[in-house]
Amino acid sequence: MKINVSNVLRNLDSRAEASGEVLVSHIDYMGEDIRVNKPIKVSAVAVNNGRDISLTGKIKADLTLKCSRCLKDFEYVLETEFEEKLSKESGNDDAIHFEGEIVDLTDIVLNNILLSLPMKPVCREDCKGLCPKCGSDMNIDKCRCAEKDIDPRFSVLKDLFKGD
Ligand SMILES: [Zn+2]
Ligand SMILES: [Zn+2]
Repeated sequence: MKINVSNVLRNLDSRAEASGEVLVSHIDYMGEDIRVNKPIKVSAVAVNNGRDISLTGKIKADLTLKCSRCLKDFEYVLETEFEEKLSKESGNDDAIHFEGEIVDLTDIVLNNILLSLPMKPVCREDCKGLCPKCGSDMNIDKCRCAEKDIDPRFSVLKDLFKGD
């Protein structure tokens, strides 16, 4: 997706708007492949602020993430806003350098998605995760590992046997 900033470059008080889609099927996240299920929806506004161009926008992405507790894939709709500066001058560390009058927003959008991803995604707030001992999915199976350790009835029995 691109935004045409030709007017914005020339006139201090003009703005450019664009909305559209970024079409990618995967995003690489630290060596992990994140599936993108639908075209990423983006709207953006560019304004000349006198020094460089301020770009603000909104992103909506339908992703498949892996639950950090039960390790299952689940659908995650990420909605975020972004704010960047664009500059024709190279060497301006605060701004993203661009050439010409049409700015491709693909990298900006993908970077902002990566910045907004949850550190520990969960398929649902109350996901019970996997048993640390036997690895079974606690959302489905009730393994006996936890019972053995904490069920008070068992500890009473243990004490009875100890008395023998
Ligand atoms: Zn889960
Ligand atoms: Zn277990």
